[in-house]
Amino acid sequence: MTLKAVGGYVKSLFLLELLKGMSVTGRRFFSPKITVQYPEEKTPMSPRFRGLHAQRRYPNGEERCIACKLCEAVCPALAITIESAQRADGSRRTTRYDIDLFKCIYCGFCEEACPVDAIVETPVFEYHFENRGENIMTKDKLLAIGDKYEADIAAAKAADAPYR
Ligand code: SF4
Ligand code: SF4
Repeated sequence: MTLKAVGGYVKSLFLLELLKGMSVTGRRFFSPKITVQYPEEKTPMSPRFRGLHAQRRYPNGEERCIACKLCEAVCPALAITIESAQRADGSRRTTRYDIDLFKCIYCGFCEEACPVDAIVETPVFEYHFENRGENIMTKDKLLAIGDKYEADIAAAKAADAPYR
């Protein structure tokens, strides 16, 4: 019988591996827990976190987006689809503005590229989809999110700080 085999036999006989495992369990049992009881408790969020998108309006209710398509061009995931048309007053606006959240990688390039602060990323991360197609954020949905969070977004933009 080799020395290695003897060592294995001794370990098995005195349940040394089991005791070693139990010692790890015992140490963790009495140490402070790091489990977070979500959603009652939440971990700190990075100031650079980027979540759900929103389209903003001016205070008079006019949508900011001028359909320049810079966000569509810069998007590395090809997640944005824009169609536009000229309105009766001569201004150009989007007739379709879709973001496919299954393609989006939340890089924030669209927000950085936008010359009129129309498209922004909020810190909202608690959202889900239940039906096929809900991953497409349409213009109406994006504007509704913008309307809901506009006060916070505007305050953060004014302070040149991340929106939290
Ligand atoms: S966050 Fe990035 S990937 Fe997502 S829509 Fe904007 S540019 Fe595209
Ligand atoms: S969201 Fe901004 S960058 Fe994108 S089309 Fe509208 S104005 Fe241009």
